[in-house]
Amino acid sequence: MRTKINLISTKEMDTILTVTGWIKSVRTSKKFSFLALNDGSCFNSLQIVIDTNMPKYEETISLLSTGASVKITGKIVQSPGKEQSIELMAQDITVIGKCDPETYPLQKKRHSFEFLREIAHLRPRTNTFGAIARVRNALSFATHQFFQEKGFLYIHTPIITAADCEGAGEMFKVTTLDLENPPKTDKNNSEETFNVTDYSKDFFEKPTYLTVSGQLEGEAYACALSNIYTFGPTFRAENSNTSRHLAEFWMIEPEMAFADLNDNMDYAEEYIKYCLKYLLEKCPQDMKFFNRYIKPGLIDKLNNVINSPFERLEYTKAIEILKNSGKKFEYKIKWGSDLQSEHERYLTEEHFKKPVILYNYPKEIKAFYMRQNDDGKTVAAMDVLVEGVGEIIGGSQREERLNVLEEKMDQTRLDKENYWWYLELRKYGSVPHAGFGLGFERLIQFATGMENIRDVIPFPRYPGHCDF
Ligand code: ATP
Ligand code: MN
Repeated sequence: MRTKINLISTKEMDTILTVTGWIKSVRTSKKFSFLALNDGSCFNSLQIVIDTNMPKYEETISLLSTGASVKITGKIVQSPGKEQSIELMAQDITVIGKCDPETYPLQKKRHSFEFLREIAHLRPRTNTFGAIARVRNALSFATHQFFQEKGFLYIHTPIITAADCEGAGEMFKVTTLDLENPPKTDKNNSEETFNVTDYSKDFFEKPTYLTVSGQLEGEAYACALSNIYTFGPTFRAENSNTSRHLAEFWMIEPEMAFADLNDNMDYAEEYIKYCLKYLLEKCPQDMKFFNRYIKPGLIDKLNNVINSPFERLEYTKAIEILKNSGKKFEYKIKWGSDLQSEHERYLTEEHFKKPVILYNYPKEIKAFYMRQNDDGKTVAAMDVLVEGVGEIIGGSQREERLNVLEEKMDQTRLDKENYWWYLELRKYGSVPHAGFGLGFERLIQFATGMENIRDVIPFPRYPGHCDF
């Protein structure tokens, strides 16, 4: 029977166990060789002790290099070392896969994250990326547990869509047409005829895209099942070469019927706190590593986030604070324009020093489906801003009044026919409802202190990069 390293404790003292994994390091003294063996089940490696008098010692040790995979049977004994309380005294060693130390790209020294991105197939073997993978796993599980405990249903919304959620561009097209030689058709307007691609010959007989959000479909299910959430991949073709944007990222989108903006803010705050608490409980070794090597003070900061209420602030008030801040920003502060990352970060990092929920944004800078407030100028939108990341959540109460929504779509020149089913949700048994989208990778950045979003997803996709 093989045992995973995370399951071995002092309870196993004096028992014979078999472990498998990859060698992290090898060190030899006069009487013993020491291996650090890691199988990914936890941050810590198991120390393997090999007596140099062991039969065939020389032959075996020559194959035991960093990166090699092995199977080792031996006895768990008390460790005299400071680093660990137990170790395994090897009795039998099988090298499963050799690893040439001359060419193995992962050397002992600390590699830059940029370099490791080029070997994304090997980087999960490093301390940092192993820890990231376990944190991702824990936060996924926490997400499901949080919503399931609250009675939300997990809904699978489509990846391929014909609807552009925001009424904006920046989507990846999905097509089976021959791009070298696409079918063409004539399209007329009053003055001219255009020769355009004939999408009626395409697979879905219309243009289709990779989804930027599951929200609209999520709303349909919330308007039948009350509380739902999605958790899936989303795609944005925006050419954003920043440390907070990916072309493919994962989003969690709860949608609540019979809920308003306040309920939305409550859920968002509770969800983030739940995730962080879960993480500190379930991944203590990994979090200790991030706290020590990636972002000093991280654990204290997260505990503060868990233990104090988020600041809730209207957009209009935020503009006043920014104007009075005395700070020189690159982008000008003006009521009616979108906040830039520098503004968001000033509010959360310098002014309030805690997560901030901004709400009631000018309607011009927000999506058509957000509920119009009585002032006629703002909509019931909210963004959650956190240190180091800026916007981690965007959400809103949705416009549930059919006539108001139709008017808004006319004003923003959206084709109502494309949204016929979305409008029907307002026609038949409409209810106030609200929801938000949390960028999963931004949550991981916040929780670990990792600076670049490309380093918190296994195989990042960003402009010019789809290499694995
Ligand atoms: P930003 O202004 O930062 O580009 P957004 O306002 O376009 O984000 P939303 O459409 O509100 O983003 O999406 C909801 C959430 O999804 C955001 O709050 C963010 O956490 C995440 N998100 C959005 N775009 C990306 C991206 N390209 N890569 C990773 N996460 C993203
Ligand atoms: Mn947003």
